[in-house]
Amino acid sequence: MPDQNEIRDTVILGSGCAGLTAAIYAARSNLKPLVLEGHEPGGQLSITTLVENFPGWPEGVQGPELIENMKKQATRFGAELRMAHLTCVDLTKSPFELTLGKDTVLTRSLIIASGASARWLGLPSEQALIGFGVSSCATCDGFFASGKEIAVIGGGDSAMEEALFLTRFATKVTLINRSESFRASRIMLERAQTHPQIEFLHNTIVEECLGVEEKDLKGLKLLNRKTGERSTLPVSFMFLGIGHEPNATMFKGQLDLDNDGYVKTEDNVFVSILGERIHGVFACGDVQDRRYRQAITAAGTGCMAALEVEKYLEELGR
Ligand code: NDP
Repeated sequence: MPDQNEIRDTVILGSGCAGLTAAIYAARSNLKPLVLEGHEPGGQLSITTLVENFPGWPEGVQGPELIENMKKQATRFGAELRMAHLTCVDLTKSPFELTLGKDTVLTRSLIIASGASARWLGLPSEQALIGFGVSSCATCDGFFASGKEIAVIGGGDSAMEEALFLTRFATKVTLINRSESFRASRIMLERAQTHPQIEFLHNTIVEECLGVEEKDLKGLKLLNRKTGERSTLPVSFMFLGIGHEPNATMFKGQLDLDNDGYVKTEDNVFVSILGERIHGVFACGDVQDRRYRQAITAAGTGCMAALEVEKYLEELGR
């Protein structure tokens, strides 16, 4: 059993935009937050290139640089960043118990900012070209596709939304759906199908992204699963729109999650189990936000979570 000194006032799970904003606020309140960096330190911003829509950066800022600055800002006020993965969590007793491999940390409050991870195809050539023509974020990288021919992968609402959005920049968008039918809602599908700049390929999968040596996407090798026909599509950008996975599986049974595994929240950050609020635990950022998924909205809810922690600890008499 860890001694009393090891009970933290607050632990923040995740070091993306939401977690680090929470850390800045909590640290400035002198709570000495412990930030667990997790599997993808820095979150999705750390795999983005130029971020042009974060207020305060008129010329844009590289995603990794933005994250690095947030880390510096949080540690300057006393946040402790630790490379650790949560292996087990017990929210049934207070203080809450977090298992990090061989270590146990007890904490009076917990901010869950574990984010969501974009789904990828999993091809080595795709992974090698992330940030060099391959992207999972149309809002972040769409501008760079200006005047180019591009591909969007997927057949759900995300893919339709991305394809429609990207017609503002790209001269032509080829939407590649692996199935015959679509998961997208009728209205979104119709909008995409009737758009003059969008073309559809059905029953088609990407076998390889071309341009790994040049570090610049040159095209896609495609396979029609129905006919067995192979072809090459010359495109300068490939956007993935095949969904996101919220990083919340470790909370199954301990927190209310929606059908797709996102943490359900009330008033943005309050969590529950069987509809009953869990005091002292808050969620922020993409792990609870399937709708906006922007750096600035993640930062906003991170701030809210930290302010609620402060209030909660005050009520506890800390
Ligand atoms: P969905 O799960 O609805 O769709 C995922 C799509 O990606 C499917 O077409 C699926 O194909 C395809 N896919 C999955 N894995 C692969 C793979 N490895 N290779 C190729 N294709 C793949 O996810 P979305 O993100 O589109 O939507 C999630 C939820 O969010 C939905 O409820 C949606 O309605 C909602 N949403 C709403 C929006 C809006 O209203 N504006 C915008 C975005 C999302 P297959 O069918 O073959 O499995």
